[in-house]
Amino acid sequence: MKIGFVGLGNMGMPMAINLAKAGHEVRAFDPAATPQPPLATSGSAAEAAAGADVVITMLPNGAILREVAAEIIPAMKQGAVLCDCSTVDVDSARAVADDASSAGLGALDAPVSGGIAGASGGTLTFMVGGGADAFETVRPLFDIMGQKAVHCGDSGAGQAAKICNNMILGATMIVTCEAFALADKLGLDRQKMFDVVSTSSGYSWSMNAYCPAPGIGPQSPADNDYKPGFAADLMLKDLRLAQQAAESADADTPLGALATQLYDRFVTEEDGSGRDFSAMLPRFEQRGRGV
Ligand code: NAD
Repeated sequence: MKIGFVGLGNMGMPMAINLAKAGHEVRAFDPAATPQPPLATSGSAAEAAAGADVVITMLPNGAILREVAAEIIPAMKQGAVLCDCSTVDVDSARAVADDASSAGLGALDAPVSGGIAGASGGTLTFMVGGGADAFETVRPLFDIMGQKAVHCGDSGAGQAAKICNNMILGATMIVTCEAFALADKLGLDRQKMFDVVSTSSGYSWSMNAYCPAPGIGPQSPADNDYKPGFAADLMLKDLRLAQQAAESADADTPLGALATQLYDRFVTEEDGSGRDFSAMLPRFEQRGRGV
């Protein structure tokens, strides 16, 4: 396939390279990054998009996605598919999909889970919203960049799945960290706590696969001084998107709201910026009830 790829950051560059290594012709653009071989370089997003069968975007947020989409949609050939893999607000995903289909294009919102390691290793999970035909067109590319792609429903359904998943993840990580800090104060050995919880009803991905306590459970960012991994800043971004969506859908999400407040404070006031999101554990360790 001829592929246009726009947005070559931590995630986009390795995803685009995996597509090119699999034999696809990938023309790539990023205003701040030089495409690495075997990617072909384009002078603009529109140039990368022109003539492509599929255009993939991997951008920081919904406002930038809307700008880029306004530039590339008129340049794309009829029947091509615009596939956005960024994490953005549901409203932006739906607005871009509407504009694309008005222009005779297919459109997918296909945010990912799996982080930078998943992007490099081709093991991402894609959660996808949009039409079935567009999904079938892009499916072979999802298979190269990832290990699983779930077609979640119409436009916006991929972003909805992503923010619901990450709202669960954020709240679960917080409660896992506060439970470790409580266990410390109760004199319970951390390894014993892990041995019990990871095989009892309190188990979760945060505890079992990404344990926030150093030296306990499988290797995780806690064992590397809480270097990300999945940065607290990105968790905050996703929690804010969940709250924005809950607001516009009139959904009651009290734990999601509290998780957002805690990560907001952690990132903006408590040196959490640039640390892994599991660094909530040292944060709780330092605190008592009154602080
Ligand atoms: P990043 O900041 O490393 O990369 C974003 C890239 O977009 C940058 O290279 C930037 O120059 C480029 N860009 C900005 N404006 C542009 C424009 N107008 N035209 C073209 N390119 C432009 O971010 P990332 O870590 O690669 O994440 C990308 C997306 O994936 C985000 O939406 C993020 O939330 C999501 N995501 C990231 C992770 C992760 O672990 N990093 C995990 C899952 C999802």
